[in-house]
Amino acid sequence: MFQRSLFRTSRPRFFYQTLTTEAPVAVTASSRRMILFCDHPLERTDHLCIKAGDMVAAGERIVPFSDASAYVVAPVAGRIQAVSPFVGDFGKNWTRIDLAAEDRGDVDSGFAAAADQVSLETVRQWMTGLPGGLEMAVIAGAEAPIDTLVVAATESDLLSVSAQYVLRHRIGAVSRGIDVLREITNAPRVVLVVGRDTVQGIGHVNAEIRAVSTVYPAAAPGLMLREVLHRELPAGGSPAAAGIAVVPVEAVAALGRSFAEKRLALEKVVTVVDKSGRRTLFEVPVGTPVADLLATADIQLENGDRLIAGGPMTGLCRYTDDYPVRPDTHCLMVQDAAAVGRVGSDPCINCGECVRICPARVPVNMLVRFLEVGKYETAAAEYDLFSCLDCGLCASVCPARIPIFQYIRLAKYELALSRAAEAENV
Ligand code: SF4
Ligand code: SF4
Repeated sequence: MFQRSLFRTSRPRFFYQTLTTEAPVAVTASSRRMILFCDHPLERTDHLCIKAGDMVAAGERIVPFSDASAYVVAPVAGRIQAVSPFVGDFGKNWTRIDLAAEDRGDVDSGFAAAADQVSLETVRQWMTGLPGGLEMAVIAGAEAPIDTLVVAATESDLLSVSAQYVLRHRIGAVSRGIDVLREITNAPRVVLVVGRDTVQGIGHVNAEIRAVSTVYPAAAPGLMLREVLHRELPAGGSPAAAGIAVVPVEAVAALGRSFAEKRLALEKVVTVVDKSGRRTLFEVPVGTPVADLLATADIQLENGDRLIAGGPMTGLCRYTDDYPVRPDTHCLMVQDAAAVGRVGSDPCINCGECVRICPARVPVNMLVRFLEVGKYETAAAEYDLFSCLDCGLCASVCPARIPIFQYIRLAKYELALSRAAEAENV
């Protein structure tokens, strides 16, 4: 995973993990309860249409509010136990719905009827929570007409092999999902992007196949699109704004499976990495509590251990395991308390390691000075904040252990909020 030059004459290099044939086969972990997050804040209970005690069928669309269209889909039949507000990463407000599974076996037929018609509207109405993370604005071409659809069968972080598992074991569903997306988006070109080590043995898919480097962070959208499409994104520009819809391979497979089987495919592949670095793949419904998944993986969380959703470079720490597997939870890792690298309180020593390793050539040593004191606008205007690819490499090499990447993420989030607020007030 990691290479450093013996005499420190070159930058350290990190490699994406490759799914080997010896890798543990995905196993299904079942849970008696589910936690669902609805992307709408619970601020007023008088607009709530659901309550504890309500029964739901598997695959039922739950619309919690009378004045908002946000919804979740129940992965299992059960009974609502609680509806509560939840504050997530960076203070984002969600509505949390706790569901107790029941062995009633009733299945909602709404999607089966809707699946007769392959359309963007059907996808919008039913598939917000599909595993893999399907962004509706991206496939709707909300920012610009789509000229290229990119199916990314690449990993989001170093230790995950979830996308490779989907590619290897669900190629038929991927192929069907590509057909669905072609129909919905009218994209004239479809490209399946895979890691260079995984390009062999892919079955037939109705798309061009392109391989990217396995050196991290080659799969970051900006770098990937430059390598495989020879297209440059402007600093801070999204692929969607350039007419490129990037869709994770797992979302494409889930889309294909859902339409083919007329049943919402809500099972998520998660790479679980334990304290010794052992990796196991699990397949669980979106909404499965992390605590239950860790119990199935025989991992005990002790005081001081660190639970990370995502990978070692870009993952986010969770303060509790009372949290669900989300559509984009590709990897979960647990670090032993003794191995956790603590954030430092030392100031920057201007060693330049972060600048040398940054693939976007951001002047990170200068950037961090402005981020530390909340000068986000200056950081964006003068020190290339929006050229950052969100890879986390700078933080991984900083000898002062400054949480550079957390500063970057927070700054981008705050600027996005303030710019959205400004746009609303214009
Ligand atoms: S600033 Fe840090 S996180 Fe951003 S691209 Fe450079 S190394 Fe990666
Ligand atoms: S790696 Fe850390 S200490 Fe070195 S220049 Fe960058 S921020 Fe400063």
